[in-house]
Amino acid sequence: MDKQLNYAKSFKDSSLVKGIVEEIRKSTTRPWVIMEICGGQTHAIMQFGLDQLLPAEIELVHGPGCPVCVTPLDQIDRAHAVAALPNVIFCTFGDMLRVPGSHTDLFKLKAQGSQVKVVYSPLDAVKIAQENPDKEIVFFAIGFETTVPANASSILQAKALGLKNFSILVSQVCVPPAMHAILSSPANRVQAFLAAGHVCTVMGYWEYHSIAAQYEVPVVITGFEPLDLLQGIMQTVKQLETGQYTVENAYPRAVQESGNLVAQKMINTIFEACDRNWRGIGMIPSSGLMLRKEFDFFNAENRFNVDHIQTRESEICIAGEILQGIKKPSHCSAFGTLCSPTNPLGAPMVSSEGACSAYYRFARDLSII
Ligand code: SF4
Repeated sequence: MDKQLNYAKSFKDSSLVKGIVEEIRKSTTRPWVIMEICGGQTHAIMQFGLDQLLPAEIELVHGPGCPVCVTPLDQIDRAHAVAALPNVIFCTFGDMLRVPGSHTDLFKLKAQGSQVKVVYSPLDAVKIAQENPDKEIVFFAIGFETTVPANASSILQAKALGLKNFSILVSQVCVPPAMHAILSSPANRVQAFLAAGHVCTVMGYWEYHSIAAQYEVPVVITGFEPLDLLQGIMQTVKQLETGQYTVENAYPRAVQESGNLVAQKMINTIFEACDRNWRGIGMIPSSGLMLRKEFDFFNAENRFNVDHIQTRESEICIAGEILQGIKKPSHCSAFGTLCSPTNPLGAPMVSSEGACSAYYRFARDLSII
């Protein structure tokens, strides 16, 4: 146990951190804008103050890799409409409870008597379906490639059990199309990516070679501990400074180029690519996953008649610009005043992976961000 603890602690070793920071400083000669894709990485950067250790020339901007933040408003409103139905037990990850829709949130619906349950896995929702045959059980299947295998396995299990009362409301998205969308935007500022290590654990990183080559941007697969992040930043800076743009794996203890082939096979058995709206960003072609026709029986959108959705987005929230690296939470006029974790105007303030929540919890001095 002590050995495991020491291994985990070694990725926060302050003398090693100082060494890498020094190497980044020596390597940096001019300004660079680097985007960490994953919201978990954003939180680690803010929590450990890594952004403040870097030379002033290095600007970190925060990407769209917060699953709760990019779930589109119409799908959130649809979730609220389904959850409000009398015979439904609506199952969701806890992060979604306070995410504001156009009119309400799941937390308020629960307080008003709707059956909203927080689960830790879609398989928990399958179990609830087994235990409640007279109810309709709906799981809100949001997230990136990391969550898709578990969602796929819930469909396989529900099918094997012959469950007729289980369905999923799908809002699954994929990282590479979002990288294309960011890099091809006229407003783009991103010059390099720290790719999300956990997504690459599932999907590998073979898809990133063509992105690096097409847009001439370095992509470094990066983990989540302070040393992982600084290592990723160092490798990225060295590429930028020498005019290279290749894909490098700075997280080899978890990631292989081909990814997890078993998980990928399971994903492809149940889901297929589709166009998907990203909250604040808009429609990105082929950026989502939907149930294949043979599993459409489990599609909650078909099962419940909730097509009367009329969305109303906050006029103040600049989440879309934050998720594309164009602005930062500190640029939002509502940050910490009209918008806070207890009174969120946008998803990035409530999600445990949201950039606004990271700034609210960890930013020490917003004037230097
Ligand atoms: S601080 Fe609130 S209103 Fe502003 S961008 Fe973040 S979530 Fe939106």
